[in-house]
Amino acid sequence: MPYRLPQRFEDEQPKNVMPLGPPIGFHYQGYDTAYGSIGDSAEDAVRGTNDSAVESRCSAVNLGYFKDDYVKFFTRRTNERRPPIINRGSYARFMGFDIFINKFLEAGDMNKQIVVLGAGSDTKYFNLKQENKQPFKFFEIDFPQITFKKIQTIKRNKQISNLIGDYEINNGNTELYGKDYYIISEDLKFFTTKVVEKLKQHGFDINLPTMFLSECVMIYMDPMDSDAIVKWISDNVPTAMILAYEQILPNDAFGQMMIKNLKARNIELKGIDAYPDLEDQKKRYLSRGWDQAYAININYFFNSHIDPSEYHRQMLIEIFDEIEEWKLIAQHYCFAWAFNTKNEVYKNIFNDIKFPTYSLSIPKNALPKKMGSKDDNMDVDN
Ligand code: SAH
Repeated sequence: MPYRLPQRFEDEQPKNVMPLGPPIGFHYQGYDTAYGSIGDSAEDAVRGTNDSAVESRCSAVNLGYFKDDYVKFFTRRTNERRPPIINRGSYARFMGFDIFINKFLEAGDMNKQIVVLGAGSDTKYFNLKQENKQPFKFFEIDFPQITFKKIQTIKRNKQISNLIGDYEINNGNTELYGKDYYIISEDLKFFTTKVVEKLKQHGFDINLPTMFLSECVMIYMDPMDSDAIVKWISDNVPTAMILAYEQILPNDAFGQMMIKNLKARNIELKGIDAYPDLEDQKKRYLSRGWDQAYAININYFFNSHIDPSEYHRQMLIEIFDEIEEWKLIAQHYCFAWAFNTKNEVYKNIFNDIKFPTYSLSIPKNALPKKMGSKDDNMDVDN
């Protein structure tokens, strides 16, 4: 299918559409931990977004959008089925990270590190380890309330414990130190003052090629605090890349509604006004010393960067009617990424880390009737 001219949606009145994260039916359940019972503070609400992310991932996995043998251990609601639009969002999000992580791990056979900011119940390490693709060191950081829960699950689950291998648990059951896997409990607003120190204690090496991931995380932080992370990496890790997935376009009708819906759940996208569009997302890195930066919205990613056979496979999973809603939602989420190659030794390491671009041409009769009936299903909009 040839590219179409970009269409704009600012004028459209949103229908009954909910933003992808947290999705429809988001509802936070309190629980008690050694770190106090979870109440209604804004910080608790942000932590609660992890629950909705896991449930959505589980729904997409159950339907066969992608494989993850471990996500089911991190939620009790393993059978919640999300609407197709949410599943597609989880799929696109997963695919973007999956493509880049694999490319990063395949780029040269030196030791590498991955640092997951606000990892929540992220299962990437387990999935990589299962395939013996884990990097030299894999670090995760989140609030103690979240790491405590994650470590409880790990301790109780032989399959995951065995996968990790030998590990030590510390800091009141909120930190885990394995041989290649580390969970650190800390507020990311203390990244430069506390987190870096902890990372270094557990073998983080600023000279190794390192990938930092922020999957719906920096958006919840005060931009001053997330900027400090972005700047610290640029100043201190000469061979680094970062990949962030987050919301954009707060000012159009849909963006306003997205913000309102989240506010109703006490969730504030603190970073959205600082980096409201794709250009600002790029500048966020370029203005802090990164060599290259890129940003694309998820609608574009979904239509242009997924291998056609894979795209075709997932299109057949569910009947998908919400095409206009999908475009709107997916234009309000982006992948933004940046590279620093300041160490001559690893100068070319990131050269192949890009999303492969495909021009989609899926025969309409290959899709279930309802999907094939609208020819704007595969529009490529910016
Ligand atoms: N990245 C995971 C979780 C996303 S939910 C995923 O995509 O599945 C957002 C996560 O960021 C939550 O686990 C929350 O606790 C964490 N987070 C947000 N702000 C944080 C901060 N200041 N310090 C540490 N973790 C934070």
